[in-house]
Parts: sequence; structure tokens; C-alpha cells
Amino acid sequence: MQLSTRLLHAIPSDPQTGAIAVPIYQTSTFIQEAPGVNLGYDYARSGNPTRQALENLVATLESGHAGFAFASGLAAIDAVVKLLSAGDQIVAIDDIYGGAFRLFEHVYRRLGIDIVYCDTTDAANVAAVLTPRTRLIWLESPSNPTLKVSDISAIAAIAKANNVLLCVDNTFASPILQRPIELGADIVVHSATKYLGGHSDLIAGVVVAGTAELAAQLKFIQNASGGILGPFDSFLVIRGIETLALRVKQHCSSGLAVAKFLQAQPEIAQVFYPGLEDHPNHAVARRQQPGGFGGIVSIALADDSVESATRFVTSTRLFKLAESLGGPKSLLCHPATMTHKSTPAAQRRAAGVADGLVRLSVGLEDAEDLIQDLAQALALVRIGAEARAEVSVA
Ligand SMILES: *Cc1c(COP(=O)(O)O)cnc(C)c1O
Repeated sequence: MQLSTRLLHAIPSDPQTGAIAVPIYQTSTFIQEAPGVNLGYDYARSGNPTRQALENLVATLESGHAGFAFASGLAAIDAVVKLLSAGDQIVAIDDIYGGAFRLFEHVYRRLGIDIVYCDTTDAANVAAVLTPRTRLIWLESPSNPTLKVSDISAIAAIAKANNVLLCVDNTFASPILQRPIELGADIVVHSATKYLGGHSDLIAGVVVAGTAELAAQLKFIQNASGGILGPFDSFLVIRGIETLALRVKQHCSSGLAVAKFLQAQPEIAQVFYPGLEDHPNHAVARRQQPGGFGGIVSIALADDSVESATRFVTSTRLFKLAESLGGPKSLLCHPATMTHKSTPAAQRRAAGVADGLVRLSVGLEDAEDLIQDLAQALALVRIGAEARAEVSVA
């Protein structure tokens, strides 16, 4: 059976009433017949049937052993880091999501966890920085916002050989395009705020454990730390996932069309999209996410300045200026001053997040309408750059 079919039928109907939609169990506790004798639930931090339906669904989607739903993507990432102890080390991708960087650097470094960053697009770089203290390798693929693609199978082999855990943030690809556990990863995390929820109407995160042992540890951490997702938002993520396969297909086809258009524009120095043949990791992307390359496209403006980037992101009409991605409406953002403002400028630039970099989340509007919107905004960028050049000559 294809994933789109399995996905829909992994969502249970309610055995008690036949309700085809998953009921929202808005309750804090569950009546027990005698102490410890219950119908599978005792207290809703430990387990809630609506959340459980979502957790089972994401485990199925990611070919994992068990799933865990959290109040945000960062709460999900936080739960994974809590598998570590003081003295342990994380090896992470260098253009890691800004919020994950802030959590690693400003919370976990203080608590005695060391983090080193490297360009994981070459698996040899990962092998070179491992030490006996390394416990966890942290990848995002494709990464945010420069769409770097790392070879998950190759890095999984290095992780296994060194007895290190591999966690992949699969937010950008979604399980429709890429299932890291099938490629050898131990753990997958998602910001379900993005494609899984898919409607820009909630904040949520999930962790999927590849083995029973990791599942038991993560279940303990989820209950002990308590950053769970509530039943209503669990219901909304399930409802979002019902259309995930369809949405991702459209995001991929419009993403590719937009990337190809942008590639031909003189105002743009570089287009970052794994589906373009000149993307440095295109061959790995083809093999690793055969279903498509997603809906996120980043561009480096030829005039690499905050001024031009600001002009561009305030000139589009359909693409709305906002943090986040993966919703029905197209969004764009300026990572240097928005999502990555927590990353120090030198490290940000070194990881390829230039001042003139703009990230687009290509939504579900008609692709031709989106292209026209980008064309008119680029024309305004060109006029602005020409005017600035004249002023500086005069
Ligand atoms: C948004 C995002 C996160 C953080 O998720 P929240 O739901 O905002 O907490 C983590 N990783 C990636 C790749 C993201 O895009």
C-alpha cells in the first residue's frame, strides 16, 4: 500500500461511537476502577487518547517504533537533548535552525553539554570531529535556510560504527519525501507547526523513536518534563496530516517552478533548491527524497545587502512577510534579521546565511500567480538598487 493510503488508514475511527474523526478528549484525568486499574489512561500528561492517535500516526509515517507529541518543535528537540548527560557532546550541522542553536548554546552548554558544528554535507567532516564524548549527531536535511542536503545513510553508518545516536530534523522534507529512520537514523524530530499541521494555525512538535529502548527513554522524559501537546492541537495536527501527501505534492511542483523562474532572473545571484541540477547535493537529494524536493526555496540577491532584501520582502503581495513555513499561504522571510538573528553574524555568514538571503515558503496558490508576484517585487529591487547606485555616484 502507498504511504498516502496507509497514512489515512493509520488514523483510527472511534470504536465507541463510530465517529470517523478522532474525538478530542478534553480531560485532565481518567476514572480508575481501583488504584492502577484503568482503561489505559490515568492522567493526561502521561497519556491522552487524542494525543496518542497523533503519536501513533507519526510513528507510522516515519517508520518508527513510537511517536511523542510536544507543545512545540523546540520542546521536541529539548526532549531529545535530555537523553544526554553533562560531559556529553553533540555534533550538529553548521546552519542549524536558529532556535535549536539558541537552545544548544544558551541552555545546554551552560548545563555541561558541548556542541561542535560542522558542514555535514560531506560525511567525512562528521567522522573527523567525533570524539569519545560524542553522543549525538544532529542533522537537518534539507537545512534551514540554505537547503543543504546531508547524506543521511552515510552519516548513519558513521554514527553506528561509533556508537553515537543520529537525530534528523525532518521538518523541511516531511515524511512524504524522506523517512530518516529507514535510512538508518535513530530519532526523527519535526516542527509540526510547519508541514505536518500544514495550516499555519498551531505550534507543535513531534519526536519519533526508531527503537523500543529509545521510545521508553523518550516516554519517560516526555512525562517527567511535561511539555506535551494538548488534545485540541493534537486533533488539528491529525487533521492537517490527512492532506499531507496531497499538499506536499503541490508544494514540490510549485517549488520547482518558482526555483526555475528565479534561476533566470538577473537580480538573483544564487537559488538554493535541492531540485535544481546545479545544487551541490542534488544527486544525494534525488536518492534520499525521491518523491520531490519540497516547497522551500532560498535566494541570494545579487545586491547582497539588508536594504535590497528588505525592499524585496516588503514588495511581494501574495508572499506574506512572516516567520514560519509550510502553510497554505506563501510566506517569505529574511533569515539574517528574523529566524537567524540569534546566531552570531560571523557564524551566520560562515554557514551561508548572507545579508541578502531570502527564504520563500511556496504555498498552495497557483504557481503562475506566485511567479508574477515575485517578478514585480524583483523589478522594485532593481529600481531601488539603481537609485542607490546613482546617489553614491553623485
Ligand atoms: C520551526 C522549526 C523548528 C522549531 O519549531 P517550533 O514549532 O517553532 O518550536 C525546528 N526546526 C526547524 C527546521 C524549523 O523550521
